[in-house]
Amino acid sequence: NFVSSVVPPGEIGVKFDDIGALEDVKSALNELVILPMRRPELFSRGNLLRPCKGVLLFGPPGTGKTLLAKALATEAGANFISITGSTLTSKWFGDAEKLTKALFSFASRLAPVIIFVDEVDSLLGARGGAFEHEATRRMRNEFMAAWDGLRSKDSQRILILGATNRPFDLDDAVIRRLPRRIYVDLPDAENRKKILRIILAQENLEPGFDINKLAAATEGYSGSDLKNLCIAAAYRPVQELLEQEKQEPDSNGSPPLRSLNLDDFLQTK
Ligand code: ATP
Repeated sequence: NFVSSVVPPGEIGVKFDDIGALEDVKSALNELVILPMRRPELFSRGNLLRPCKGVLLFGPPGTGKTLLAKALATEAGANFISITGSTLTSKWFGDAEKLTKALFSFASRLAPVIIFVDEVDSLLGARGGAFEHEATRRMRNEFMAAWDGLRSKDSQRILILGATNRPFDLDDAVIRRLPRRIYVDLPDAENRKKILRIILAQENLEPGFDINKLAAATEGYSGSDLKNLCIAAAYRPVQELLEQEKQEPDSNGSPPLRSLNLDDFLQTK
């Protein structure tokens, strides 16, 4: 159940430094979320610096929204609860309303906490029309009501963080409750280089490996695409070694794995 998916800040295992590029996104999140959670006293005077109750991350698939959400919890020293539409509906169809209530009352005891709603469009998307299940509709209304009900004292320490690839599917009621919207863009060549540096940090690359060339050759790739490309490339020396062993079963001891070269990546693309 959702209670078992609470992760304390020290156990999330991702921090901002593990995310390449997205500097503007990190700095916006620092101001909007991390500071108010870490230093609530700085935001309690007057009316101008009210912490917000909701932030939306939107942008193409695979650009690191989930990764950012987790790292944000680490950086803010907050517990992390991740929910999707199916967490609240499928298993407990009918009970979704009760579960939503429980989620919010639980969260207020866990604060500081980030409730990450992945694919927020599927949980809180535009009203589903005549075919929408009654339970889904009730759950959504309950979710909005509980969200509105967060006392301003709590709102400093409970954040709803939504993520979506399809912001246009969100209805106005949800958009209004997510007043801060941050675009998480595909990386350009310079930023792909930063992401590749992180992904390849522990790999055995051949001397003189030119990461600029790889960044230039991966136009249009998301962070997730880059990760998948690197995994496929890293497999090539393994495959070669296995082939070699098959062809020379009698040789004693296998040679060491060779290092990765640019071709491994370009051939796998
Ligand atoms: P989706 O919208 O498809 O859910 P997403 O935007 O949430 O995708 P993630 O799930 O965070 O993307 O990214 C998938 C994987 O891609 C990450 O676990 C990570 O390995 C890699 N990745 C994506 N972006 C970055 C980045 N900026 N730096 C390092 N790794 C990244």
